[in-house]
Amino acid sequence: MPEWPEMEHYRKMLEGKIHNKRVTAVQVERERSLNVSIAEFTNRVQGQHIIAVQRRAKMLLMILESNEVMLLHLMLGGWIFYGQDQEKPNRTIQVQLAFGEQQLYFIGLRLGYLHIFTPAELTTRLTELGPEPFDPALSLSAFKQRLEQRRGTLKKLLTDQAMISGIGNCYSDEICHAARLLPSRLPSSLTNEEWFNLYESMHVTLLDALQAGGYMDQAFYAGDLLTGGYNHRCLVYDREGELCHRCGQTIIRNIVSTKKSFCCIGCQR
Ligand SMILES: [Zn+2]
Repeated sequence: MPEWPEMEHYRKMLEGKIHNKRVTAVQVERERSLNVSIAEFTNRVQGQHIIAVQRRAKMLLMILESNEVMLLHLMLGGWIFYGQDQEKPNRTIQVQLAFGEQQLYFIGLRLGYLHIFTPAELTTRLTELGPEPFDPALSLSAFKQRLEQRRGTLKKLLTDQAMISGIGNCYSDEICHAARLLPSRLPSSLTNEEWFNLYESMHVTLLDALQAGGYMDQAFYAGDLLTGGYNHRCLVYDREGELCHRCGQTIIRNIVSTKKSFCCIGCQR
């Protein structure tokens, strides 16, 4: 499932493509990807300019001039493509928004969805989320305090959207590896230096992944060479049996707090 780097990468690219553009047509093949009927969705979206593209946690928010918001959650398997009809991927498209000649395709929305909300509904929808990893209010001490309040492993807490939003299964493992900490560690066992390393690693890992284009498999537009650039740079995630780049030990896979997790027992403590 795309996480902070993938969705922030999408946000930046999408902003460049659709900011201030008008939705000229709406086509929906799968009504279940929406939260209202196709007719109502079309009525609320078609003809509207996109006045901003924002991200919250793992969700993209496309703000309409009516102040209503299209909220996209890709969940597992969803992705988006922007381009002309002849460039579109040979895949089933669930929703399609036209911006004149250009189209924004929503693909693989099985668990994922594109919902429309009023500003008040959106506020309610987002209320449970914890702070963003780069929220200036999330200082090292605030980060430590948040994680210490709840029981559970680093794996569980880092992926808990109510704790910190935007981190999932892949980057929780990458962050722990960067910090030389096992995902199974309990916050109560961390030294001050380890807290510092975890906090710094969270920022460095997410920014690195964003700059490399995240780990999505598919290009966002024809000729896009950036999207997915981080896929080959994950150091532990999905690398069971490979050798750790840092210490040469074999990377293992196990289950931590009911989640699949990868780590190196050579250099993570
Ligand atoms: Zn190692």
